Amino acid sequence: MARSKIHGMFRLVIAACLLSASTANAQAPAKTKPTLVVFITVDQLASDYLERYGGNFTGGLDRIRTQGATWVRGLHDHAITETAPGHASTMSGRFPVHTGITSNSQGVNTADAPLVAGTGPGASPFRFRGTTLHDWMKAADPATRSMSVSRKDRGAILPIGRAKTEVYWFSEDGRFTTSTYYRDRLPAWVDAFNARRVPQSYAGKSWVPLLHPDRYAEPDTVNVESGGVDYTFPHVVPTDSAAAAAAFSQYPWMDSLTLAFALEGARRMELGASASRTDLLAISLSTTDAVGHRYGPDSKEIHDQLLRLDRYLGAFLDSLFAMRDSRRIVIALTADHGVAPYPEARSPYYANEGAQRTSQAAAWGLMMERLREAGIDTTALHYDDGVRVRDAAAFRRANTDPDDFARIWVREMRRQTGVLRADLVSDLARMDTTHDDIARRWLHMFAPGGDVRAVSTLKPFGYWAGVNYATHGQAHDYDARVPIMFWGAGIVAGERGTTARVVDMAPTLAAWLGISPLERLDGRALPLTTAP
Ligand SMILES: [Zn+2]
Repeated sequence: MARSKIHGMFRLVIAACLLSASTANAQAPAKTKPTLVVFITVDQLASDYLERYGGNFTGGLDRIRTQGATWVRGLHDHAITETAPGHASTMSGRFPVHTGITSNSQGVNTADAPLVAGTGPGASPFRFRGTTLHDWMKAADPATRSMSVSRKDRGAILPIGRAKTEVYWFSEDGRFTTSTYYRDRLPAWVDAFNARRVPQSYAGKSWVPLLHPDRYAEPDTVNVESGGVDYTFPHVVPTDSAAAAAAFSQYPWMDSLTLAFALEGARRMELGASASRTDLLAISLSTTDAVGHRYGPDSKEIHDQLLRLDRYLGAFLDSLFAMRDSRRIVIALTADHGVAPYPEARSPYYANEGAQRTSQAAAWGLMMERLREAGIDTTALHYDDGVRVRDAAAFRRANTDPDDFARIWVREMRRQTGVLRADLVSDLARMDTTHDDIARRWLHMFAPGGDVRAVSTLKPFGYWAGVNYATHGQAHDYDARVPIMFWGAGIVAGERGTTARVVDMAPTLAAWLGISPLERLDGRALPLTTAP
């Protein structure tokens, strides 16, 4: 009896092994050394969008999500949820406090690196500190080739860090361009791509919903959208070709063009073409952000943009896999931040009743008054997502501490009904950052003793006064939660219940490639081969 019981158990164990082996095989083909890493950042792809619209996805977003390792509610664990700090964290594995990129206004723009073609401000990674996945790959194998492309300069530049590689973004004249930081003139293949004049060819065309009207639950006639102008379908591209090029970034086709440019670059530079090295292609798709800002996160337009994005990504993967062996490609996908609905519109998805707009003018005015009384030039402090010291010497000469003035601002901000909290950065450092998410997210932006002395956080779904479009940037989950996904041979599919942070993505890819980061990171490698 004992023997038959043991025998029975043995058979059960065998069956379980066979089952798990066959399941693993079905989900995760054997891993081979990747020849290409594709890192995709979708600007403003909030986690909520996948949960809301995922059922209608049939293309690339659906494929990466269902065949890959997915953390739908991943996290940007920093407070200023803007494009520049978000993109700088993606491939660096570090928080803004360590990359030095803390806001869009303190981002990449500089007159020191003018564009080599097209119109727009110059740009370079002059503020970016430290290294990225790109540098670790290059250190491991100097033969590694790389390219980064985006509609936005910051979206193209910051994932790569300081490296002078192939980095391109879109100019308002309809061309992809770069700055003198990277090269003195565009390569022939970029000129040839630009000569197709795709944006101009859209002059006079209409953006209409992709699917049958039944598939959209959203009303189209919400006049808070788009500043009360052109807020219903169809949205017609200007008929003048130069105006069409300038407006092109506001239409879903911009993402399709960015992906086409990425494919052309991969083909021309033979990214992923050699079995002996691993190359890197970074792509940042910006239209979800443009459409989200213009029409808001609850709009029919954003729904349609996401349906199109999903299909564009599907077509991109089909083309990439026709050109390169998909078994040797690993794909990572995330976003730089989420988004909040208009305070004036009751959201069907978010509990934003009572959301209001807040001005910090009164608090700032009082602090300025105290500065004048103390005989300190008022330009010694300025506001940039927090009270920032611009002239530390002015305070030393007056034998005073900038915190004494920042404290006045904090006290006044706390009296505003739309403000959740206002804090001195030096006080945040003493708080329980395990349980206090907001304090932790601010400390991931600014170090105590640095230029930024005080910060404030609006109540959930609040906006700053004067913002006349839908926006993001707060330390709350609706702005901070983004999908984190990895796809590739050997990666076990499934949605993970655990939390992952965007700073975990670069160390995860480094571990997957078997290379070492060149510095201390804030993130840690996520498990890709264990079943969820
Ligand atoms: Zn944005």
